[in-house]
Amino acid sequence: MVGNDGVFGASQALDDKVSLNLVTVQIAGKASVMAADRLRALASELPDFKALLIKYEQFFLAQVQQTAACNAVHDIDARTCKWLSRMHDLVGPDLLLTQEFVARMMGVRRTSVTTVAGALQGAGLISYSRGRLHIVDIERIRKRACECDDAVRSHFRRMFEAVETDTHKDRCV
Ligand SMILES: [Zn+2]
Repeated sequence: MVGNDGVFGASQALDDKVSLNLVTVQIAGKASVMAADRLRALASELPDFKALLIKYEQFFLAQVQQTAACNAVHDIDARTCKWLSRMHDLVGPDLLLTQEFVARMMGVRRTSVTTVAGALQGAGLISYSRGRLHIVDIERIRKRACECDDAVRSHFRRMFEAVETDTHKDRCV
C-alpha cells in the first residue's frame, strides 16, 4: 500500500524499465505524477532525492514481504485491523469503500468481511454505513492488529526517521 508517505514506479523510472504491477487506487485522493525522464534528470541532479527514492523502494519491498507472510499466517480479524491501521496512516479515519472492495483487497470472501466489520462495529472500533467506513478508535484497532502492523511502521521509521515531517511523526507513533 502506498499513500501520502510514498511513491510508486520510481525504480522503474530510474532504470527505464517496464512496470510489471497492476496498481489499484483504493481511496480517491490527490497524487502527483512525474514523467520518467524528468524524474531521472532530477535524481541525477539531486543525490539526496535519488537516495530517498531508493529507500522507499526498500521499504515498499519489506512491506510486500511482510504482507505475503501475513496473508499466510494471520487471521482475517487481525489482518483487517492491520489494513485499517495502515489506511488510517495513509488517508485518515474516513474511508469511502464497499465491503466488496475490502474483500477483494484482502483476498477473502465478502461474507468474511461482513462478519469482521460487524464485530469491529459492535466493539465500537469502527462505524460503517452505505460504503462509508469511519475509524472510531485507532488505538484499539492497532492493539487488535497482527504484529505486521508494528513491523511495517517500524520499517518506515527506521528508513525515514531523519526525513519524516512532524505531521508524519504524529501519525506513525
Ligand atoms: Zn499479519
